[in-house]
Amino acid sequence: MDSSTTTTTGTVKQMGELSIKDNDDIEQQQQEYSSDDDDECDCEIDENEQDISTYSKETLDAAIATKVSIEQYYTQLFKSLKEREERRVFLERKMEELSLKDEQRSIKRRELDRRETEYIKSRRIRLTGHSFESIKIIGRGAFGEVRLVRMKKNNKVFAMKKLDKSKMIERQQTVHVRSERDILADNNINGNNPWIVSLYYSFQDTYYLYLIMEYVPGGDMMTQLIKYDTFTEDATRFYIAETVLALHSIHRMNYIHRDIKPDNLLIDNKGHIKVSDFGLCTGLETNRVPTLAEIYKKYQGDNLSEDDQTLQGRSARFDSWKRQRRVLAYSNVGTPDYTAPEVLMQNGYSAECDWWSVGVIMFEMLVGYPPFCSETQRETYHKIMNWKYTLPKIMEEAKAEVSLSAEAQDLIERFLTDPNRRIGANGAEEIQAHPFFRGVNWKTLRESTPPIIPTVTSATDTSNFDHYDEEPAHVPAEPIPQPHAQESKSRRKINSFDIPFIGYTYRNFEAMREQFGTIGPRETLKF
Ligand code: ATP
Ligand code: MG
Repeated sequence: MDSSTTTTTGTVKQMGELSIKDNDDIEQQQQEYSSDDDDECDCEIDENEQDISTYSKETLDAAIATKVSIEQYYTQLFKSLKEREERRVFLERKMEELSLKDEQRSIKRRELDRRETEYIKSRRIRLTGHSFESIKIIGRGAFGEVRLVRMKKNNKVFAMKKLDKSKMIERQQTVHVRSERDILADNNINGNNPWIVSLYYSFQDTYYLYLIMEYVPGGDMMTQLIKYDTFTEDATRFYIAETVLALHSIHRMNYIHRDIKPDNLLIDNKGHIKVSDFGLCTGLETNRVPTLAEIYKKYQGDNLSEDDQTLQGRSARFDSWKRQRRVLAYSNVGTPDYTAPEVLMQNGYSAECDWWSVGVIMFEMLVGYPPFCSETQRETYHKIMNWKYTLPKIMEEAKAEVSLSAEAQDLIERFLTDPNRRIGANGAEEIQAHPFFRGVNWKTLRESTPPIIPTVTSATDTSNFDHYDEEPAHVPAEPIPQPHAQESKSRRKINSFDIPFIGYTYRNFEAMREQFGTIGPRETLKF
Protein backbone atom coordinates (compact mmCIF):
# COMPACT_ATOMS: atom_id res chain seq x y z
CA MET A 1 0.00 0.00 0.00
CA ASP A 2 1.39 3.36 -0.94
CA SER A 3 1.37 5.52 2.14
CA SER A 4 2.14 8.68 0.19
CA THR A 5 -1.32 8.61 -1.31
CA THR A 6 -3.13 9.25 1.90
CA THR A 7 -3.02 12.88 2.87
CA THR A 8 -4.02 16.05 1.13
CA THR A 9 -0.38 17.08 1.01
CA GLY A 10 0.45 13.56 -0.10
CA THR A 11 -1.81 14.06 -3.06
CA VAL A 12 0.03 17.19 -4.05
CA LYS A 13 3.29 15.28 -3.75
CA GLN A 14 1.94 12.65 -6.06
CA MET A 15 1.34 15.23 -8.74
CA GLY A 16 5.07 15.80 -8.97
CA GLU A 17 5.74 12.11 -8.88
CA LEU A 18 3.24 11.26 -11.55
CA SER A 19 5.00 9.80 -14.56
CA ILE A 20 2.98 10.20 -17.70
CA LYS A 21 4.47 8.53 -20.71
CA ASP A 22 2.14 9.90 -23.30
CA ASN A 23 1.31 13.58 -23.45
CA ASP A 24 -1.53 13.03 -25.90
CA ASP A 25 -3.15 10.77 -23.39
CA ILE A 26 -3.15 13.39 -20.68
CA GLU A 27 -4.41 16.09 -23.05
CA GLN A 28 -7.23 13.88 -24.14
CA GLN A 29 -8.15 13.17 -20.56
CA GLN A 30 -7.95 16.82 -19.65
CA GLN A 31 -10.45 17.53 -22.41
CA GLU A 32 -12.73 14.86 -21.09
CA TYR A 33 -12.50 16.29 -17.62
CA SER A 34 -12.87 19.89 -18.69
CA SER A 35 -16.43 19.18 -19.71
CA ASP A 36 -17.16 17.58 -16.40
CA ASP A 37 -19.44 20.09 -14.73
CA ASP A 38 -19.70 17.92 -11.66
CA ASP A 39 -16.34 19.12 -10.43
CA GLU A 40 -16.59 22.08 -8.18
CA CYS A 41 -14.71 24.52 -10.37
CA ASP A 42 -17.99 26.37 -10.75
CA CYS A 43 -17.15 29.70 -9.22
CA GLU A 44 -17.92 32.91 -11.03
CA ILE A 45 -16.61 36.37 -10.45
CA ASP A 46 -19.19 39.03 -11.03
CA GLU A 47 -18.14 40.86 -14.19
CA ASN A 48 -19.13 44.22 -12.76
CA GLU A 49 -16.60 43.80 -10.03
CA GLN A 50 -13.62 43.44 -12.34
CA ASP A 51 -13.21 47.21 -12.87
CA ILE A 52 -13.19 48.07 -9.21
CA SER A 53 -9.73 49.20 -8.21
CA THR A 54 -10.24 49.03 -4.46
CA TYR A 55 -11.40 45.50 -4.11
CA SER A 56 -14.37 44.81 -1.94
CA LYS A 57 -14.38 41.94 0.53
CA GLU A 58 -16.77 40.06 -1.77
CA THR A 59 -14.36 40.39 -4.68
CA LEU A 60 -11.43 39.23 -2.63
CA ASP A 61 -13.47 36.32 -1.30
CA ALA A 62 -14.50 35.40 -4.82
CA ALA A 63 -10.87 35.59 -5.95
CA ILE A 64 -9.69 33.34 -3.12
CA ALA A 65 -12.54 30.96 -3.76
CA THR A 66 -11.64 30.85 -7.46
CA LYS A 67 -8.01 30.15 -6.66
CA VAL A 68 -8.85 27.35 -4.24
CA SER A 69 -11.38 26.01 -6.67
CA ILE A 70 -8.88 25.88 -9.55
CA GLU A 71 -6.22 24.30 -7.33
CA GLN A 72 -8.69 21.68 -6.17
CA TYR A 73 -9.81 21.06 -9.72
CA TYR A 74 -6.30 20.30 -10.93
CA THR A 75 -5.41 18.33 -7.80
CA GLN A 76 -8.47 16.18 -8.43
CA LEU A 77 -7.67 15.89 -12.10
CA PHE A 78 -4.15 14.60 -11.47
CA LYS A 79 -5.40 12.34 -8.73
CA SER A 80 -8.03 10.87 -11.06
CA LEU A 81 -5.43 10.27 -13.73
CA LYS A 82 -3.17 8.55 -11.26
CA GLU A 83 -5.99 6.34 -10.00
CA ARG A 84 -6.88 5.45 -13.55
CA GLU A 85 -3.28 4.46 -14.17
CA GLU A 86 -3.29 2.41 -10.96
CA ARG A 87 -6.37 0.50 -12.12
CA ARG A 88 -4.66 -0.26 -15.42
CA VAL A 89 -1.46 -1.43 -13.70
CA PHE A 90 -3.52 -3.56 -11.30
CA LEU A 91 -5.31 -5.20 -14.22
CA GLU A 92 -2.04 -5.92 -16.06
CA ARG A 93 -0.48 -7.38 -12.93
CA LYS A 94 -3.46 -9.61 -12.24
CA MET A 95 -3.56 -10.84 -15.84
CA GLU A 96 0.16 -11.62 -15.66
CA GLU A 97 -0.28 -13.51 -12.39
CA LEU A 98 -3.05 -15.58 -13.94
CA SER A 99 -1.10 -16.08 -17.19
CA LEU A 100 -4.14 -15.14 -19.25
CA LYS A 101 -4.04 -15.68 -22.98
CA ASP A 102 -3.63 -12.64 -25.27
CA GLU A 103 -7.20 -12.84 -26.42
CA GLN A 104 -8.54 -12.84 -22.86
CA ARG A 105 -6.26 -9.93 -21.99
CA SER A 106 -7.63 -7.83 -24.85
CA ILE A 107 -11.19 -8.50 -23.69
CA LYS A 108 -10.36 -7.40 -20.14
CA ARG A 109 -8.52 -4.30 -21.34
CA ARG A 110 -11.47 -3.30 -23.50
CA GLU A 111 -13.78 -3.89 -20.58
CA LEU A 112 -11.72 -1.63 -18.33
CA ASP A 113 -11.65 1.07 -21.04
CA ARG A 114 -15.44 0.94 -21.28
CA ARG A 115 -15.78 1.23 -17.54
CA GLU A 116 -13.41 4.17 -17.37
CA THR A 117 -15.39 6.02 -20.03
CA GLU A 118 -18.61 5.24 -18.24
CA TYR A 119 -17.10 6.51 -14.98
CA ILE A 120 -16.11 9.82 -16.55
CA LYS A 121 -19.59 10.22 -18.03
CA SER A 122 -21.33 9.35 -14.82
CA ARG A 123 -19.30 11.91 -12.89
CA ARG A 124 -21.23 14.57 -14.75
CA ILE A 125 -24.47 13.56 -13.07
CA ARG A 126 -25.07 15.76 -10.07
CA LEU A 127 -26.22 14.10 -6.88
CA THR A 128 -28.18 16.04 -4.27
CA GLY A 129 -29.90 15.20 -1.01
CA HIS A 130 -33.03 14.75 -3.11
CA SER A 131 -31.46 11.81 -4.93
CA PHE A 132 -32.06 9.81 -1.73
CA GLU A 133 -35.19 8.86 0.14
CA SER A 134 -34.85 8.80 3.91
CA ILE A 135 -35.77 5.59 5.70
CA LYS A 136 -34.76 6.28 9.31
CA ILE A 137 -32.34 8.23 11.49
CA ILE A 138 -29.70 5.84 12.87
CA GLY A 139 -27.25 8.20 14.55
CA ARG A 140 -26.78 11.75 15.65
CA GLY A 141 -23.69 13.82 16.36
CA ALA A 142 -22.51 17.34 16.95
CA PHE A 143 -22.90 18.49 13.33
CA GLY A 144 -25.81 16.54 12.04
CA GLU A 145 -27.21 13.11 11.71
CA VAL A 146 -26.75 9.74 10.06
CA ARG A 147 -29.72 8.25 8.22
CA LEU A 148 -30.49 5.05 6.46
CA VAL A 149 -31.45 6.11 2.93
CA ARG A 150 -32.41 4.59 -0.38
CA MET A 151 -31.03 5.95 -3.64
CA LYS A 152 -34.08 6.76 -5.74
CA LYS A 153 -32.41 5.83 -9.02
CA ASN A 154 -31.55 2.23 -8.19
CA ASN A 155 -33.15 1.48 -4.79
CA LYS A 156 -29.76 0.78 -3.22
CA VAL A 157 -29.51 1.32 0.51
CA PHE A 158 -26.79 3.52 2.07
CA ALA A 159 -25.98 5.36 5.29
CA MET A 160 -26.04 9.12 4.72
CA LYS A 161 -24.13 11.38 7.09
CA LYS A 162 -25.36 14.93 6.72
CA LEU A 163 -23.31 17.71 8.27
CA ASP A 164 -24.45 21.26 8.85
CA LYS A 165 -21.93 23.64 7.19
CA SER A 166 -22.80 26.66 9.27
CA LYS A 167 -22.30 24.73 12.52
CA MET A 168 -18.93 23.56 11.30
CA ILE A 169 -17.86 27.09 10.41
CA GLU A 170 -19.19 28.40 13.71
CA ARG A 171 -17.19 25.82 15.66
CA GLN A 172 -14.19 25.99 13.34
CA GLN A 173 -14.46 22.35 12.46
CA THR A 174 -14.16 22.53 8.69
CA VAL A 175 -10.89 20.59 8.57
CA HIS A 176 -12.80 17.85 10.36
CA VAL A 177 -14.97 17.16 7.32
CA ARG A 178 -12.13 17.27 4.87
CA SER A 179 -10.17 14.71 6.82
CA GLU A 180 -13.17 12.40 7.06
CA ARG A 181 -13.90 12.60 3.37
CA ASP A 182 -10.20 12.26 2.48
CA ILE A 183 -9.51 9.11 4.46
CA LEU A 184 -12.73 7.45 3.38
CA ALA A 185 -11.99 8.30 -0.26
CA ASP A 186 -8.35 7.19 0.05
CA ASN A 187 -9.53 3.93 1.47
CA ASN A 188 -11.36 3.19 -1.74
CA ILE A 189 -8.33 4.08 -3.82
CA ASN A 190 -6.08 1.87 -1.78
CA GLY A 191 -8.04 -1.26 -2.44
CA ASN A 192 -11.00 -1.21 -0.14
CA ASN A 193 -9.83 -1.82 3.35
CA PRO A 194 -12.50 -4.05 4.95
CA TRP A 195 -11.83 -2.48 8.37
CA ILE A 196 -13.05 0.93 7.25
CA VAL A 197 -16.57 1.94 6.27
CA SER A 198 -16.68 2.39 2.47
CA LEU A 199 -17.51 5.78 1.05
CA TYR A 200 -19.47 5.83 -2.19
CA TYR A 201 -20.12 9.52 -2.75
CA SER A 202 -19.65 12.86 -1.10
CA PHE A 203 -21.33 16.07 -2.24
CA GLN A 204 -22.77 19.27 -0.88
CA ASP A 205 -25.50 21.82 -1.28
CA THR A 206 -25.83 25.32 0.10
CA TYR A 207 -26.32 24.19 3.68
CA TYR A 208 -25.03 20.68 4.08
CA LEU A 209 -22.21 18.28 3.33
CA TYR A 210 -23.20 14.70 2.60
CA LEU A 211 -21.24 11.48 2.94
CA ILE A 212 -22.91 8.47 1.34
CA MET A 213 -21.44 5.36 2.95
CA GLU A 214 -22.10 1.67 3.04
CA TYR A 215 -24.74 0.87 5.67
CA VAL A 216 -23.18 -1.19 8.48
CA PRO A 217 -26.29 -2.85 9.96
CA GLY A 218 -25.05 -4.41 13.21
CA GLY A 219 -25.09 -1.16 15.20
CA ASP A 220 -22.15 0.20 17.14
CA MET A 221 -20.07 -1.15 20.00
CA MET A 222 -21.45 1.42 22.44
CA THR A 223 -24.94 -0.04 21.94
CA GLN A 224 -23.58 -3.59 22.43
CA LEU A 225 -21.84 -2.56 25.66
CA ILE A 226 -24.97 -0.90 26.97
CA LYS A 227 -26.86 -4.09 26.17
CA TYR A 228 -24.40 -6.66 27.54
CA ASP A 229 -22.66 -4.61 30.32
CA THR A 230 -19.48 -6.69 30.02
CA PHE A 231 -17.97 -9.21 27.62
CA THR A 232 -16.14 -12.43 28.41
CA GLU A 233 -12.38 -12.47 27.91
CA ASP A 234 -12.88 -14.49 24.72
CA ALA A 235 -15.29 -11.97 23.25
CA THR A 236 -13.04 -9.10 24.35
CA ARG A 237 -10.05 -10.82 22.74
CA PHE A 238 -11.91 -11.02 19.45
CA TYR A 239 -13.08 -7.39 19.40
CA ILE A 240 -9.80 -5.96 20.63
CA ALA A 241 -7.86 -8.09 18.12
CA GLU A 242 -10.08 -6.83 15.28
CA THR A 243 -9.72 -3.25 16.51
CA VAL A 244 -5.92 -3.69 16.55
CA LEU A 245 -5.94 -4.84 12.93
CA ALA A 246 -8.30 -2.04 11.92
CA LEU A 247 -6.12 0.62 13.57
CA HIS A 248 -2.97 -0.91 12.18
CA SER A 249 -4.42 -0.59 8.67
CA ILE A 250 -5.35 3.05 9.34
CA HIS A 251 -1.86 3.82 10.69
CA ARG A 252 -0.35 2.18 7.61
CA MET A 253 -2.33 4.68 5.53
CA ASN A 254 -0.51 7.37 7.53
CA TYR A 255 -3.55 8.42 9.50
CA ILE A 256 -4.05 8.61 13.24
CA HIS A 257 -7.68 8.19 14.24
CA ARG A 258 -7.54 10.08 17.58
CA ASP A 259 -11.18 9.43 18.40
CA ILE A 260 -11.32 5.69 18.94
CA LYS A 261 -14.22 4.84 21.23
CA PRO A 262 -16.99 2.23 21.23
CA ASP A 263 -19.44 4.52 19.36
CA ASN A 264 -17.03 4.65 16.42
CA LEU A 265 -16.62 0.88 16.14
CA LEU A 266 -19.45 -0.36 13.93
CA ILE A 267 -20.47 -3.99 13.54
CA ASP A 268 -21.16 -5.42 10.11
CA ASN A 269 -23.87 -7.95 9.25
CA LYS A 270 -21.57 -10.85 10.10
CA GLY A 271 -20.44 -9.34 13.42
CA HIS A 272 -17.04 -7.96 12.37
CA ILE A 273 -15.70 -4.51 13.21
CA LYS A 274 -15.59 -1.53 10.86
CA VAL A 275 -14.18 1.77 12.02
CA SER A 276 -16.16 4.91 11.29
CA ASP A 277 -16.09 8.60 12.11
CA PHE A 278 -12.85 9.96 10.77
CA GLY A 279 -13.66 13.51 11.71
CA LEU A 280 -10.62 13.75 13.96
CA CYS A 281 -8.41 11.60 11.84
CA THR A 282 -5.03 12.71 10.40
CA GLY A 283 -2.39 14.99 11.73
CA LEU A 284 -4.37 18.00 10.57
CA GLU A 285 -5.44 20.18 13.44
CA THR A 286 -9.12 20.30 14.24
CA ASN A 287 -10.95 21.86 17.07
CA ARG A 288 -12.22 18.96 19.09
CA VAL A 289 -8.86 17.85 20.40
CA PRO A 290 -7.86 21.42 21.28
CA THR A 291 -11.28 21.88 22.85
CA LEU A 292 -10.80 18.81 25.05
CA ALA A 293 -7.35 20.13 25.85
CA GLU A 294 -8.71 23.57 26.69
CA ILE A 295 -11.27 22.12 29.04
CA TYR A 296 -8.48 20.18 30.66
CA LYS A 297 -6.42 23.38 31.08
CA LYS A 298 -9.30 24.94 32.96
CA TYR A 299 -9.08 22.18 35.52
CA GLN A 300 -5.33 21.81 35.49
CA GLY A 301 -4.48 23.89 38.51
CA ASP A 302 -7.14 22.71 40.89
CA ASN A 303 -6.78 19.91 43.29
CA LEU A 304 -9.70 17.65 43.74
CA SER A 305 -11.45 17.97 47.08
CA GLU A 306 -12.42 14.97 49.20
CA ASP A 307 -15.95 15.27 47.84
CA ASP A 308 -14.78 14.95 44.29
CA GLN A 309 -12.74 11.91 44.97
CA THR A 310 -15.79 9.94 45.90
CA LEU A 311 -14.86 6.38 46.51
CA GLN A 312 -17.76 4.97 44.57
CA GLY A 313 -18.05 1.25 44.52
CA ARG A 314 -18.30 -0.60 41.25
CA SER A 315 -22.08 -0.65 41.07
CA ALA A 316 -22.40 3.11 41.71
CA ARG A 317 -19.74 3.86 39.11
CA PHE A 318 -21.40 1.44 36.75
CA ASP A 319 -24.81 3.06 37.16
CA SER A 320 -23.57 6.59 36.80
CA TRP A 321 -21.58 5.67 33.69
CA LYS A 322 -24.57 4.01 32.08
CA ARG A 323 -26.74 7.01 32.90
CA GLN A 324 -24.33 9.44 31.27
CA ARG A 325 -23.16 7.30 28.38
CA ARG A 326 -25.44 8.34 25.54
CA VAL A 327 -25.68 11.95 26.61
CA LEU A 328 -21.90 12.22 26.49
CA ALA A 329 -21.79 10.55 23.09
CA TYR A 330 -24.06 13.18 21.57
CA SER A 331 -22.54 16.22 23.21
CA ASN A 332 -20.49 18.70 21.19
CA VAL A 333 -17.09 17.79 22.48
CA GLY A 334 -17.84 14.21 23.44
CA THR A 335 -16.41 12.38 26.36
CA PRO A 336 -12.71 12.64 27.26
CA ASP A 337 -12.80 9.11 28.71
CA TYR A 338 -10.99 7.46 25.79
CA THR A 339 -8.50 10.25 25.07
CA ALA A 340 -4.81 9.71 25.77
CA PRO A 341 -3.17 12.07 28.31
CA GLU A 342 -0.62 13.34 25.78
CA VAL A 343 -3.49 14.38 23.47
CA LEU A 344 -5.11 16.34 26.31
CA MET A 345 -1.77 17.94 27.10
CA GLN A 346 -1.31 18.99 23.46
CA ASN A 347 2.46 18.77 23.55
CA GLY A 348 3.04 16.31 20.78
CA TYR A 349 1.49 12.96 20.17
CA SER A 350 1.59 10.28 17.56
CA ALA A 351 -0.18 7.09 16.45
CA GLU A 352 0.36 5.56 19.92
CA CYS A 353 -2.49 7.72 21.20
CA ASP A 354 -4.89 5.32 19.45
CA TRP A 355 -3.46 2.36 21.41
CA TRP A 356 -4.25 4.14 24.68
CA SER A 357 -7.90 4.34 23.58
CA VAL A 358 -7.86 0.62 22.80
CA GLY A 359 -6.67 -0.02 26.38
CA VAL A 360 -9.58 2.02 27.73
CA ILE A 361 -12.08 0.11 25.58
CA MET A 362 -10.59 -3.23 26.63
CA PHE A 363 -10.97 -2.28 30.31
CA GLU A 364 -14.56 -1.17 29.66
CA MET A 365 -15.41 -4.44 27.90
CA LEU A 366 -14.14 -6.51 30.82
CA VAL A 367 -15.13 -4.32 33.76
CA GLY A 368 -18.27 -2.52 32.56
CA TYR A 369 -17.15 1.12 32.54
CA PRO A 370 -14.02 2.90 31.31
CA PRO A 371 -11.23 3.15 33.91
CA PHE A 372 -11.24 6.92 34.43
CA CYS A 373 -14.99 7.51 34.35
CA SER A 374 -16.27 9.72 37.13
CA GLU A 375 -19.32 11.67 38.23
CA THR A 376 -17.90 14.84 36.67
CA GLN A 377 -15.80 15.50 33.59
CA ARG A 378 -13.39 17.48 35.73
CA GLU A 379 -12.67 14.38 37.75
CA THR A 380 -12.26 12.27 34.61
CA TYR A 381 -9.66 14.69 33.25
CA HIS A 382 -7.89 14.69 36.55
CA LYS A 383 -7.76 10.90 36.71
CA ILE A 384 -6.47 10.58 33.15
CA MET A 385 -3.74 13.16 33.64
CA ASN A 386 -2.70 11.55 36.92
CA TRP A 387 -3.01 8.01 35.63
CA LYS A 388 0.28 7.01 37.25
CA TYR A 389 -1.36 7.48 40.63
CA THR A 390 -4.97 6.70 39.84
CA LEU A 391 -4.61 3.61 37.61
CA PRO A 392 -3.04 1.20 40.15
CA LYS A 393 -5.98 1.78 42.50
CA ILE A 394 -8.49 1.52 39.67
CA MET A 395 -6.97 -1.82 38.61
CA GLU A 396 -7.03 -3.12 42.18
CA GLU A 397 -10.70 -2.21 42.57
CA ALA A 398 -11.57 -3.78 39.24
CA LYS A 399 -9.80 -7.02 40.13
CA ALA A 400 -11.69 -7.19 43.40
CA GLU A 401 -14.96 -7.01 41.50
CA VAL A 402 -14.49 -8.95 38.27
CA SER A 403 -12.11 -11.73 37.46
CA LEU A 404 -9.33 -10.50 35.22
CA SER A 405 -6.68 -12.87 33.91
CA ALA A 406 -3.05 -11.87 34.47
CA GLU A 407 -2.62 -11.51 30.69
CA ALA A 408 -5.63 -9.22 30.35
CA GLN A 409 -4.48 -7.05 33.22
CA ASP A 410 -0.96 -6.87 31.84
CA LEU A 411 -2.15 -5.87 28.38
CA ILE A 412 -4.41 -3.12 29.76
CA GLU A 413 -1.47 -1.76 31.75
CA ARG A 414 0.79 -1.94 28.70
CA PHE A 415 -1.75 0.16 26.75
CA LEU A 416 -2.38 2.63 29.58
CA THR A 417 1.13 3.93 30.06
CA ASP A 418 3.57 6.56 28.79
CA PRO A 419 3.53 6.84 24.99
CA ASN A 420 7.14 5.77 24.51
CA ARG A 421 6.66 2.67 26.67
CA ARG A 422 3.19 1.91 25.36
CA ILE A 423 2.66 -1.39 23.59
CA GLY A 424 2.25 -0.67 19.88
CA ALA A 425 4.76 2.19 19.94
CA ASN A 426 7.08 -0.10 17.97
CA GLY A 427 4.37 -1.37 15.65
CA ALA A 428 1.18 -3.38 15.97
CA GLU A 429 3.18 -6.62 15.81
CA GLU A 430 4.20 -6.26 19.43
CA ILE A 431 0.55 -6.05 20.44
CA GLN A 432 -0.26 -9.11 18.36
CA ALA A 433 2.55 -11.01 20.11
CA HIS A 434 1.17 -10.28 23.60
CA PRO A 435 0.17 -13.46 25.53
CA PHE A 436 -3.43 -12.20 25.87
CA PHE A 437 -3.82 -12.92 22.15
CA ARG A 438 -2.32 -16.41 22.30
CA GLY A 439 -4.17 -18.63 19.85
CA VAL A 440 -5.54 -15.78 17.71
CA ASN A 441 -5.14 -16.43 14.02
CA TRP A 442 -4.52 -12.90 12.82
CA LYS A 443 -4.55 -13.80 9.15
CA THR A 444 -8.04 -15.28 9.17
CA LEU A 445 -9.59 -13.20 11.96
CA ARG A 446 -12.03 -11.43 9.69
CA GLU A 447 -13.20 -14.75 8.30
CA SER A 448 -13.68 -16.33 11.75
CA THR A 449 -17.02 -16.47 13.61
CA PRO A 450 -17.59 -13.43 15.84
CA PRO A 451 -18.92 -13.82 19.40
CA ILE A 452 -22.11 -11.90 18.61
CA ILE A 453 -23.78 -12.20 15.24
CA PRO A 454 -26.30 -9.41 14.79
CA THR A 455 -29.80 -10.18 13.70
CA VAL A 456 -30.34 -8.43 10.39
CA THR A 457 -33.56 -9.42 8.71
CA SER A 458 -33.43 -7.18 5.64
CA ALA A 459 -31.32 -4.57 3.90
CA THR A 460 -33.26 -1.87 5.72
CA ASP A 461 -33.35 -3.46 9.17
CA THR A 462 -32.41 -0.80 11.73
CA SER A 463 -33.25 -2.82 14.85
CA ASN A 464 -29.60 -2.72 16.01
CA PHE A 465 -29.72 1.07 16.31
CA ASP A 466 -31.40 3.29 18.85
CA HIS A 467 -34.58 5.09 18.01
CA TYR A 468 -34.18 8.79 17.18
CA ASP A 469 -37.09 11.19 16.88
CA GLU A 470 -37.32 12.88 13.53
CA GLU A 471 -37.09 16.47 14.69
CA PRO A 472 -35.94 16.70 18.26
CA ALA A 473 -36.11 20.04 20.00
CA HIS A 474 -32.34 20.57 20.16
CA VAL A 475 -31.81 20.31 16.40
CA PRO A 476 -32.60 23.58 14.61
CA ALA A 477 -35.25 23.42 11.92
CA GLU A 478 -33.82 22.63 8.52
CA PRO A 479 -33.14 25.64 6.31
CA ILE A 480 -35.57 25.99 3.43
CA PRO A 481 -34.29 23.47 0.91
CA GLN A 482 -33.30 24.70 -2.54
CA PRO A 483 -35.47 23.11 -5.19
CA HIS A 484 -33.50 20.34 -6.81
CA ALA A 485 -33.79 21.53 -10.39
CA GLN A 486 -32.88 25.08 -9.58
CA GLU A 487 -29.79 23.98 -7.66
CA SER A 488 -28.33 22.11 -10.59
CA LYS A 489 -29.24 24.62 -13.30
CA SER A 490 -28.06 27.86 -11.85
CA ARG A 491 -24.44 28.15 -10.92
CA ARG A 492 -24.25 29.54 -7.46
CA LYS A 493 -21.66 32.22 -6.88
CA ILE A 494 -19.27 30.98 -4.25
CA ASN A 495 -17.96 33.11 -1.43
CA SER A 496 -15.69 32.81 1.59
CA PHE A 497 -18.25 30.61 3.35
CA ASP A 498 -17.71 27.96 0.65
CA ILE A 499 -13.92 27.96 0.59
CA PRO A 500 -13.36 25.18 3.14
CA PHE A 501 -15.79 22.94 1.28
CA ILE A 502 -14.50 23.33 -2.27
CA GLY A 503 -13.55 20.00 -3.83
CA TYR A 504 -15.67 17.97 -1.41
CA THR A 505 -17.37 16.02 -4.19
CA TYR A 506 -16.28 12.44 -4.59
CA ARG A 507 -17.49 9.47 -6.62
CA ASN A 508 -16.28 5.98 -6.02
CA PHE A 509 -15.29 4.19 -9.23
CA GLU A 510 -16.96 0.97 -8.14
CA ALA A 511 -20.12 2.74 -7.00
CA MET A 512 -20.49 4.40 -10.38
CA ARG A 513 -20.60 1.03 -12.03
CA GLU A 514 -23.13 -0.24 -9.55
CA GLN A 515 -25.26 2.84 -9.89
CA PHE A 516 -25.46 3.06 -13.63
CA GLY A 517 -24.79 -0.58 -14.37
CA THR A 518 -24.55 -0.25 -18.14
CA ILE A 519 -21.16 -1.80 -18.50
CA GLY A 520 -21.92 -5.45 -18.58
CA PRO A 521 -21.50 -8.29 -16.17
CA ARG A 522 -20.13 -7.29 -12.82
CA GLU A 523 -17.73 -10.19 -12.72
CA THR A 524 -15.98 -9.29 -15.96
CA LEU A 525 -13.04 -7.72 -14.19
CA LYS A 526 -13.14 -9.89 -11.14
CA PHE A 527 -10.58 -12.59 -10.77
P1 ATP B 1 -18.58 13.41 14.57
O1 ATP B 1 -17.82 12.84 15.71
O2 ATP B 1 -17.79 13.62 13.33
O3 ATP B 1 -19.50 14.51 14.93
P2 ATP B 1 -20.57 11.52 14.75
O4 ATP B 1 -20.12 10.82 15.98
O5 ATP B 1 -21.74 12.41 14.78
O6 ATP B 1 -19.42 12.27 14.06
P3 ATP B 1 -20.46 9.05 13.33
O7 ATP B 1 -19.71 8.45 14.47
O8 ATP B 1 -19.87 8.92 11.98
O9 ATP B 1 -20.81 10.54 13.55
O10 ATP B 1 -21.90 8.45 13.34
C1 ATP B 1 -22.77 8.52 14.47
C2 ATP B 1 -23.45 7.18 14.67
O11 ATP B 1 -24.21 6.87 13.48
C3 ATP B 1 -22.49 6.01 14.86
O12 ATP B 1 -22.12 5.86 16.21
C4 ATP B 1 -23.32 4.86 14.34
O13 ATP B 1 -24.22 4.39 15.31
C5 ATP B 1 -24.11 5.49 13.20
N1 ATP B 1 -23.40 5.32 11.91
C6 ATP B 1 -22.46 6.13 11.37
N2 ATP B 1 -22.05 5.68 10.18
C7 ATP B 1 -22.74 4.55 9.94
C8 ATP B 1 -22.77 3.60 8.86
N3 ATP B 1 -22.01 3.74 7.78
N4 ATP B 1 -23.60 2.54 8.97
C9 ATP B 1 -24.38 2.39 10.07
N5 ATP B 1 -24.40 3.25 11.10
C10 ATP B 1 -23.61 4.31 11.05
MG1 MG C 1 -18.97 9.08 16.34
